Amino acid sequence: MTDPHHLAADDWPALSGGTAGPAALRPLLEEVLAALSAGAQRRGGPIAAGRPAEAADRVRAALADATGPAALARLTELLAHGGADPADPACAAHLHCPPLAVAAAADLAVSALNPSQDSWDQAPAATALERELLAELAALVGFDPAGSAGVLTSGGTESNLMGLMLARDRRLGPDVELDGVPPGVRPRILASQAAHFSVQRAAALLGLGERAVRAVPVDRTLRMDPAALAEALAATAREGAVPVAVVATAGTTDTGAIDPLGPVADLASRYGAWLHVDAAYGGGALFSDRLSPLLAGVERADSVSLDWHKLGWQPAAAGVFLVRRAETYASLARRAVYLNPADDEEAGYPSLLGLSLRTTRRPDAFKLAVTLRTLGRAGLGRMVDRCHELALAAAELVRAEPALELHCDPVLTTVVFRYLPTGTAGSAVDPAAADRINAELRRELLRTGRAVVGRTELPAPAHSSNAAGLVRLKLTLLNPRTTPSDLADLLAAVVRAGRRVEQSS
Ligand SMILES: *Cc1c(COP(=O)(O)O)cnc(C)c1O
Repeated sequence: MTDPHHLAADDWPALSGGTAGPAALRPLLEEVLAALSAGAQRRGGPIAAGRPAEAADRVRAALADATGPAALARLTELLAHGGADPADPACAAHLHCPPLAVAAAADLAVSALNPSQDSWDQAPAATALERELLAELAALVGFDPAGSAGVLTSGGTESNLMGLMLARDRRLGPDVELDGVPPGVRPRILASQAAHFSVQRAAALLGLGERAVRAVPVDRTLRMDPAALAEALAATAREGAVPVAVVATAGTTDTGAIDPLGPVADLASRYGAWLHVDAAYGGGALFSDRLSPLLAGVERADSVSLDWHKLGWQPAAAGVFLVRRAETYASLARRAVYLNPADDEEAGYPSLLGLSLRTTRRPDAFKLAVTLRTLGRAGLGRMVDRCHELALAAAELVRAEPALELHCDPVLTTVVFRYLPTGTAGSAVDPAAADRINAELRRELLRTGRAVVGRTELPAPAHSSNAAGLVRLKLTLLNPRTTPSDLADLLAAVVRAGRRVEQSS
């Protein structure tokens, strides 16, 4: 038979798998690595200077002239130059970690082979590996590995949705699958004011409505007040509403505060509510002997969210969802005749399909398994401790700088503070002006390419010399190679940017 395309197999574009894949990849990887290096060099800092329109113009120009085999190097250089690089000590805004080289290399192996976790016959080894890794992570959390279950997810957003889905199905029964919330039922999810916004979004997606989420007050560090949770649960009972779930946050996105997990678990169990612990950030503390006591009580959760693309140094995505009792995982189970037929399962072919909201799914467990084997829990624990120490050092530097004000002591690896306008040190400051200057100085640091600093809004501390103003700056420290002197330079740059903004306004 003649091939209508008149091409021999070897004339088609090279593939990454098979015995020939590595040879095809090697020269391309050399190009990628050279371009990554050239792009980082040309950037010369945490982010390229300029406004968003200039960055967009550079992208359009590169897309227009990158064609054929040159596209890979040209666009990789563009990506590296145009990145916000968390490996630079001055890039410290978000829970956006610098990935470990070994984890990125492991992820390359995954990309080359492309296993998919939705059926055993697409991923024989990766299926078994995910189960082994989940048992290790269950033990890390304090669950019985034999009785628990879990899955790798795209992150805390998906894990929180899954936890609340299982909570809804357990509390409101199977009818909810067909009909939404049964008539007359008023569901409630109790989460702190500082809980991640994905909790509200999950409530909306699950048909419970965003208003089902009741915000429990927090203290100045953003830690849930257990007395306020007790009151909110009592009010739920008085109103005849159903406490579907209590969400505790172990590491708020802004301050790293950890809700009092023991008292929260007591209250959830007293009211028969599912306890979901969102440890997307704070889960990393489990690697550290020094910090893991902060998460005491997490082993009592019905479900837990963990994110190793935050305090775990993995390339995104590396989310994990765990449930303490595998039997509570029931409502996601799925039978697809082309993926996990019952006779295959009876014949001993396992399937992860019914554990995930997704179908096609990368084996994100792989890079984490490699990392844990390479560094061990202790190696990751040292990295967590180092970042915690950097946060304490940054807090000391902020305290020693009259132009800056610390919001609260660091809990994990985040420091929240603000710039105090000079004209007003010691006297009352116009809160609107302070907020404007803090917001603008952060954009000034981005525009000049000097630093990527976080920004949030929090209530002013009671002892503040300036009674009001909400805008805060934050450093989320996830780079163990950062030094205290890098932090001093970064904070000095913040103060200089503040002065410049003040002078020009
Ligand atoms: C980051 C974060 C999330 C969302 O996780 P993604 O991985 O971004 O989906 C949820 N909860 C908390 C506390 C977080 O910090």
